[in-house]
Amino acid sequence: MTDYKEETLRCFCCGKKSKQTVLLSTNSFRPPDLDQRQGGMARSTISYWLLECPFCGYVAPDIEQGDAKAKSFMQTPEFQAASSDPTFDPAARRFLVRAAEHAHDGDRMAAFLDTLSAAWIADDSKQPDQAAVLRLKAAARLAGSGIKSINTRLVLLDVLRRASCWDAAEALVDEMLAEDLEDPFVGIVLFHRGKITKRDSGRYTIADAQRRRRGASTVDPEMMNLLAGHLSTPPSSRQK
Ligand SMILES: [Zn+2]
Repeated sequence: MTDYKEETLRCFCCGKKSKQTVLLSTNSFRPPDLDQRQGGMARSTISYWLLECPFCGYVAPDIEQGDAKAKSFMQTPEFQAASSDPTFDPAARRFLVRAAEHAHDGDRMAAFLDTLSAAWIADDSKQPDQAAVLRLKAAARLAGSGIKSINTRLVLLDVLRRASCWDAAEALVDEMLAEDLEDPFVGIVLFHRGKITKRDSGRYTIADAQRRRRGASTVDPEMMNLLAGHLSTPPSSRQK
């Protein structure tokens, strides 16, 4: 069950008070997508994962919390650009502000995941072109030095495939298959390869990939747990 509460919060950055809808709890009983987006009710709570001060534009999971770095980021051109960008829905924009802050702090992974969250919002509002643009923006957040983490590369592979970025997706499949990947990760990469060959940019879950691997209609729960446990949790709801 998903619970919300109306609360008056004092902004960490400007000290002004505003009413906010705070997510208290939710659940996720369905398998996550291949890009780690949660299933179940947790999926529909995404608009509440980040709060925004209506006075100064500070964005955080909890606007009452922050640090000196968060405060100084608000003085940068990157904050101004992301905060005033009219291209995206407010919920997507909040994630892009947060992604810009992470990029400013040098945290590529967090910037990638928050930009991907903005793409999920575009998915939900049936804006496939915008979702593809945001996925490419997310992938660009990881540009630079090579990525070693299998987890991150599996999510990136899904991001590239869903943005119809076929050449880059194929190159990443080749790179991963050239390594001695353990099961069940190799199964996921092969699942992507099949979809990439068919130029299929659709949404699939980890369970879909498992079904194909086993050639059966049921999903091995142990394998699901192993995968879900390995994949890191996406930006979660604010817990109070
Ligand atoms: Zn404020």
